[in-house]
Amino acid sequence: MTLRAHMMDCPLMISDILVHAAKCHGDQEIVSRLPEDGTIHRETYAQAHERTKQLANALTKKLKIKEGDRVATIAWNSHRHFELYYGISGVGAVVHTVNPRLDPKQIIWMLDHAQAKAVFFDKTFAPIVNAIAKACKSVKNWVLMTDKTHSDAVDVKHKTYEELIGDQSADYDWPVFDEYAAAGLCYTSGTTGDPKGVLYSHRSNVLHAMATSASDVVGVGARGVIMPVVPMFHVNAWGVPYAAPMNGSKLIMPGAQLDGASLHELIESEEVSYVAGVPTVWLGLLNYLETEGKRIDSVQRVLIGGSALPESLLRAYEDKYGVVMQQGWGMTEMSPLGTVNVLLPKQEKLDREEQIKIKLKQGRLVFGVGMRVVDDEGKELPWDGKSSGHVQVRGPWIASAYYRGAGAESFTEDGWFQTGDVAHLDGNGFMTITDRSKDVIKTGGEWISSIDLENAAMGHPGVAMAAAVGMPHPKWQERPLLVVQAKEGAEKDAESILEYLRGEVPKWWVPDAVEFIDEMPIGATGKILKTKLREIYKDYEFPSVEA
Ligand code: AMP
Repeated sequence: MTLRAHMMDCPLMISDILVHAAKCHGDQEIVSRLPEDGTIHRETYAQAHERTKQLANALTKKLKIKEGDRVATIAWNSHRHFELYYGISGVGAVVHTVNPRLDPKQIIWMLDHAQAKAVFFDKTFAPIVNAIAKACKSVKNWVLMTDKTHSDAVDVKHKTYEELIGDQSADYDWPVFDEYAAAGLCYTSGTTGDPKGVLYSHRSNVLHAMATSASDVVGVGARGVIMPVVPMFHVNAWGVPYAAPMNGSKLIMPGAQLDGASLHELIESEEVSYVAGVPTVWLGLLNYLETEGKRIDSVQRVLIGGSALPESLLRAYEDKYGVVMQQGWGMTEMSPLGTVNVLLPKQEKLDREEQIKIKLKQGRLVFGVGMRVVDDEGKELPWDGKSSGHVQVRGPWIASAYYRGAGAESFTEDGWFQTGDVAHLDGNGFMTITDRSKDVIKTGGEWISSIDLENAAMGHPGVAMAAAVGMPHPKWQERPLLVVQAKEGAEKDAESILEYLRGEVPKWWVPDAVEFIDEMPIGATGKILKTKLREIYKDYEFPSVEA
């Protein structure tokens, strides 16, 4: 029999992160570009804590929010959104972050599915609120996240955030409750079927923040100036709004302006050292730096994830701008972090080309995330750096079910979550994703990695974006079609892209055709919508098919 230890049973509470930041890093700043007018706003963690306590009083007394209620946000990254993260979860309610890029019908569906009691929204999203408010029967209060001077754009009866909290006391004792209580709700992008809700707990968010704080993961301390460009409506901005105050990092919130020029301005003025976001954001910034001849010398590291890091982007940032690009992998169901690419000391001694091969992997497993890769029959595959299979994960910040019972088929009987990604693992715990299960191109019984093919195509100077999709083929079942959005002003020369690929990928991977598209369809979380491409090219026939 084991011997029970005498350690305290202290529930992990999200509010404790802010209390700690206010006490130990009280003068550290949150700097926001305000979504309503683009001006810069500064407040310290101590001030944020005071305002969050005022918010807690307003939520419970004015809006009558009770434990377990869902309170939604449709908002950019800002100090007010930060306060809502802590205020809503702090009173025992659930922050339901809504992705404003979704179709309004889907937003109505989500708010109804979640039975949201109140919605906090930025002025830029007033048109969405004006369009959906009538249909959102559960919502009793709409709150515009600004002050009275910006109320003009909203047709719906509402309060403003500053009026809501302005007359409230900053005396509030954060309640302590079960650490397994729900604190956040985020719906997955759901390219097919209805979106599925992931319900985070106080415990899972605190543990995720602690794990990601480690030096070989996100590793931002009190000296760090971190800017989450990844939105707070996309998996808790990868946990940065929790990890930054936990460690006393300065936090930069870029608001609604995510273009290269605006990001560059904030990076320069606040001396940002660490930034996190999806590849499309870094492509936009790179474009700006190149055309304007600007630099980002304060930035030491970039955390890049959400989709694969293109080699051309890695080389451009590392070789020209001296920034370390760290690829991360995860998903909404994983809070999100599962792997981060930080080289091991023995790998730092390798030559540059060998290092690049490793850096293009999705990264090394973070402690706390259990992973196995299985074949179609469910048999676990070896960690040999080549045996690809279906990735399954488990751990304290990984969903054990979807909200209200959806998607039960994603969970195995023995307690693993099926990610839908296809990958292999190597002997150092580095994972390489080769595809989404539904995106692999199966040609003559062999798998072609659409991700590798796309990455290779992105190396061609005329390619802005590339997507490889499998198209029916009479002999090989499927062959790759490469859909390309050409760079502005570049010639649309399919043969030159194919010729380039012949030197980059195995011969049998070279696509059977290249089709140019004016604008690549991009989903709500910044990923290429392959479902849409399959729809566009559903009757496609390759020009030269030898039966
Ligand atoms: P989401 O839940 O919207 O964050 O999407 C999660 C999915 O994005 C994962 O299952 C992967 O398919 C994809 N993804 C995330 N990070 C990466 C990465 N670094 N490389 C390739 N795919 C990624």
